[in-house]
Amino acid sequence: MEIEIATIGGYEEVGRQMTAVRAGDDVVVFDMGLNLSKVLIHDNVETERMHSLDLIDMGAIPDDRVMSDLEGDVKAIVPTHGHLDHIGAISKLAHRYDAPIVASPFTIELVKQQIKGEEKFGVENDLQKMSAGETMQIGERNELEFVNVTHSIIDAINPVLHTPEGSIVYGLDKRMDHTPVIGDPIDMKRFREIAREDNGVLCYIEDCTNAGRKGRTPSESVARRHLKDVMYSIEDYDGGIVATTFSSHIARVSSLVEFADDIGRQPVLLGRSMEKYSGTAERLDFVDFPDDLGMYGHRKSVDRTFKRIMNEGKENFLPIVTGHQGEPRAMLTRMGRGETPYELEDGDKVLFSARVIPEPTNEGQRYQSEKLLGMQGARIYDDIHVSGHLREEGHYEMIDTLQPQHIIPAHQDMKGFAPYVDLAENMGYNLGRDLHVTRNGNLITLVEE
Ligand SMILES: [Zn+2]
Repeated sequence: MEIEIATIGGYEEVGRQMTAVRAGDDVVVFDMGLNLSKVLIHDNVETERMHSLDLIDMGAIPDDRVMSDLEGDVKAIVPTHGHLDHIGAISKLAHRYDAPIVASPFTIELVKQQIKGEEKFGVENDLQKMSAGETMQIGERNELEFVNVTHSIIDAINPVLHTPEGSIVYGLDKRMDHTPVIGDPIDMKRFREIAREDNGVLCYIEDCTNAGRKGRTPSESVARRHLKDVMYSIEDYDGGIVATTFSSHIARVSSLVEFADDIGRQPVLLGRSMEKYSGTAERLDFVDFPDDLGMYGHRKSVDRTFKRIMNEGKENFLPIVTGHQGEPRAMLTRMGRGETPYELEDGDKVLFSARVIPEPTNEGQRYQSEKLLGMQGARIYDDIHVSGHLREEGHYEMIDTLQPQHIIPAHQDMKGFAPYVDLAENMGYNLGRDLHVTRNGNLITLVEE
């Protein structure tokens, strides 16, 4: 059976991930993501109303025109998890393919919400839920399986396409977490089994983020302990404490909520995306928040809540807000600019349970946000966080476990691929032979007929 890989997006950048695998006559698409920084750099861009081709020209969504060179039918569109760089282009591209969108329950729910917000295209693809451990027949001879992995968002999976020539493991994005705060540990046992099956692993496509960092990425339970230490240490502070994190990071949000309670403060989630992700996770029973946890997204209800906090005393509350990267319109940045009814005073604490995404725009915005908060007297607790991506030893362990015939590094630019290529070459792979560094819009033939 002929096997081809189309590397469509995310091979020159972090963002707008999209890869297609053709096995015989069947094609499976993995991820359809957005490159948010290409959108945010323009002021007032409303992607909801934009056409796909304009977004492709901006570099915001994958240029899927290479798909017409693949001689097969798309049988499934498979986003691996709910981050925007993996699902954000579905509402712009999926309608071009007569195929269902197949994803884990939390991811499907986020895809559904995204499609609902789309104003330009009618996206009518079937939405099919499939959980980790389950499989789905693809055409007559291929099978799709979801393997449970751990990442900075719940319900993440790595899809595996089993073909008569061996398995294709699509490895974006994960960290090797054996003690996650929500959900099951990464299913290394299943990866070991897949490696031992007939024909083994034909190809491993992997996210190279953090490949240049030594050692292993700590578990989410380490970030949780770090957070607990910080929050318990300020238990006696009788002024304002404000926290921010990735709103899609449900495990972290739930730790914040729990420790707020522990130190005698009522947690409140503020900001549109805080309400969106946490509300969805609670509706789907991934998390059990206290009954009195307030979640407010709309500007008016947020401001009303801030007024209530000021009236009843800042020392009784812990607002958990958006703005961990210093995004200009996010809640924490507005608080720093003094645009909300919440007044920061000398000695008030601001907890960043996030790392600055190392990119000039984020670094600049975050710097500005911290300065503004500091000018009002806030004390900053930075980097209470662990990454959602594998470091060098995690990458080593995955390659060692899967023993793939071919490796395709993804989810980075050329610079980001370099440390991963070094590692793979040290493990016996050869650039150009079985280790394929590529660009957006290429086709790689792994098995010829
Ligand atoms: Zn991700």
